[in-house]
Amino acid sequence: MIIAVTGTPGVGKTTVSKLLARKLGYEYVSLRDYVMERGIGEMKGDELEVEVDELAYNFERDFAGKNVVADGHLSHFLKADLVVVLRAHPKLVGERLKGRGYSKEKIGENVEAELVDVILVEALEENENVIEVDTTGKTPEKVVDEIIGLIQKGVKRRVGIVDWSEVYDEVIPYLRL
Ligand code: ADP
Ligand code: MG
Repeated sequence: MIIAVTGTPGVGKTTVSKLLARKLGYEYVSLRDYVMERGIGEMKGDELEVEVDELAYNFERDFAGKNVVADGHLSHFLKADLVVVLRAHPKLVGERLKGRGYSKEKIGENVEAELVDVILVEALEENENVIEVDTTGKTPEKVVDEIIGLIQKGVKRRVGIVDWSEVYDEVIPYLRL
């Protein structure tokens, strides 16, 4: 089974994906590393630009039929059996990206994306089987246990569990207004 773990930068994809892969005994694949190794992406300034169709095509050829956890904010464009969209309070996203030294512009862009469900909406356009998991206030272990629990129960779709408009006031300092 191919499990795609997606979400806004900073939500915890890499942390959760590695642990999820370890617990399931699946192969962990960082899409960023995969794209670099395969020469699929192109550096535009300090950003890696990826042709998603080319990524999906190559990934399918290399991993179809294998047990893989694919980690990346483009993973919902892969032909996956399950897409896990990780969510986090936009303020958490903002603080984590600040800690990574992202520019105010880049932080704002990502906080806004988390606030208005950009990745979730994209994932729903691409795949029927989308599970949304709110990581806010949970340890990575707890998040992984929740994902495994849903898989074991055969849940293939669970969306609409967060509404960040409720915390809009807390997020305003991060926005590009
Ligand atoms: P992403 O891959 O989505 O950009 P990371 O996995 O790199 O996110 O996580 C960003 C930061 O948040 C890391 O410092 C990580 O330790 C922390 N983190 C990730 N998941 C959690 C969690 N569930 N609880 C607390 N901190 C977390
Ligand atoms: Mg990551």
